[in-house]
This record gives sequence, structure tokens and C-alpha cells, in this order.
Amino acid sequence: METLHIFIKSKRIGCRCPKCGTESRKLHATYERILQDTPIRCKQTFLHVNVYKYDCLNPECDCIVFMEELPFAKASQVRTDALNTLVLGVSMYLSNEGASKVLGLLGIRISNDTIQRLYDRIGFVDNPDVEEVGIDDVAIRKGQTYATAIYDLKDHHLIALLEGREGEALRNWLEHHKKIRLVARDRASAYAAAISAVLPDCVQVADRFHLLQNLLEHLKDIFKEELPAKIFIRDGKVLDQEPQKIPQEKKPDDAFLATLHYGNTPPRNPDGTEMAYDNKKHDFSSEQYRTQAKSRKKNSS
Ligand SMILES: [Zn+2]
Repeated sequence: METLHIFIKSKRIGCRCPKCGTESRKLHATYERILQDTPIRCKQTFLHVNVYKYDCLNPECDCIVFMEELPFAKASQVRTDALNTLVLGVSMYLSNEGASKVLGLLGIRISNDTIQRLYDRIGFVDNPDVEEVGIDDVAIRKGQTYATAIYDLKDHHLIALLEGREGEALRNWLEHHKKIRLVARDRASAYAAAISAVLPDCVQVADRFHLLQNLLEHLKDIFKEELPAKIFIRDGKVLDQEPQKIPQEKKPDDAFLATLHYGNTPPRNPDGTEMAYDNKKHDFSSEQYRTQAKSRKKNSS
């Protein structure tokens, strides 16, 4: 596989200590980080980043040397964030093994084990001070296992995934999140009951999707009452009454039939003998035939 190598260097000349926040411009050393990036023209692409190490200037800080943070790759990662996102995006629809193969064709080398590790690292960071949340039930496996997803309404990121959708787990979770004052939820009454029980002052709203669903259901009820079950339209006009059915016998097209030429004679072999084309042996005295004939008679009478 051909590979592309891109060499880059940070333009920054200062960095804040991750521990104490003091800005430092005192370079300690440089080192090279090699990161696999999203492929270019299906070629495996590497970034060689010249990264700086800084001395912390705060004498009270126990962090003596710290590394520059890259905006496109977390520390200790060998892939850029963009590549990890792409890998997770593709593997969402495939098995890890399938994803590894498809990504290989695109110019990304990643094993199925590594894809699994990426998945395992996804964590939900719960926020006990969250004030506005959205709650929705989600199917883990379609129609089988349900879970309750809770997300921060500000940016819609997931903060908790609770077992079941009966409201029991939600009740427990809410006990530890008493600052919540607004919940956008679906129409499940189990959620409504849990919220009212734990946070009686909390405002509950239906989210946009469920509002629309409610509206459509009500409109359907209204239309069902107002509109007749059947509407007859002829030539673009609505008829007051059901039109009378005029029975019409279907007649064969004589002109067409006249163009067909067919004989009723059995086909013949080249030597002139009749071709045996009915090879079904009818045993009219058989048990099966007699019961069939009996039922035919019953049906016709
Ligand atoms: Zn420091």
C-alpha cells in the first residue's frame, strides 16, 4: 500500500500548563508524534507532527514539563480525531471485521480489535448539575431491549443510558439530579409519573417530534368524525351519492379471435403417430380421485 506522509509543525510559541493553567513560553524540547489521518485519494496518510514540550513556570506546580495539546488529536492517540470519527461512523453499520476491510479499501489501516477498543472507550459523562434534559426511549435491539436515553438539551450529548423504559431507573437517576427544571420527553406516561414524583416543580414539555405526532393523531380523529367513510369522485367532482353500478358483461373480442388460427388436433410425431402429450396417469378408481370428485360435487351443488 502506498502511503502519504505530511510533516507539520506547530506555530504556537506558548502553551498553558494543563495542571495549573500558567502560560509558559519556555521550551523544554520537541518530539515527533506520528498520527494516522483520514486518507487522501485512498492512500494511507500519516501526519508527522513536531510537538513542543514546555517547562511549567509556576514553582508551586508539581507538573514540571508538559506537552503541547493538539487540537486535532488527543494525547497518546495514534490517530487523529477526524479519523477516529470516520472509523466509528463506518463501523456503526458494519461488523468490526467488515468495517476493518472496508476502511482498508479507503486507505485506513485499522484492525477489528482496535475498532472495538474505540467503541469501548466511548463513555457517558454524567453531569449532576444539569438543568435541562431530554428523555427518550431507545431500542438497543429493535423491538427487544429498551433503554432510556438522557441527553443534555444544550448540545444534545448523551449523559446517561438507563435500563428499561418503565421509569424506575429514571426515578433513581432523577433523585441525584435535583437541579433539573426542564425536561423534554416523549409521551410515555411512565416518564411523566417519575418526573412528577421526584421533581414536582419541573416543567415537562413534549419534544418537537412528539408534538407533531400528537397533532397528527388529533387531526386524524377530527377528520374521521367530519368526513364520510367513502367519498366518490367522478371527473374531478365529488358525488353526493354512491354511483349506481352498471353491470357490464365482458364479451370476447370476436375480431381478435378471428385472427387466431388454431386447430384442435393433437400434435403428431414426425412419423405421423399421435404425440403423447398428456402423460398424467389418471386412475379414476383411486381413493384420492374419488374423494376429490366427491368434494367437487359438494361444492357445485
Ligand atoms: Zn503548572
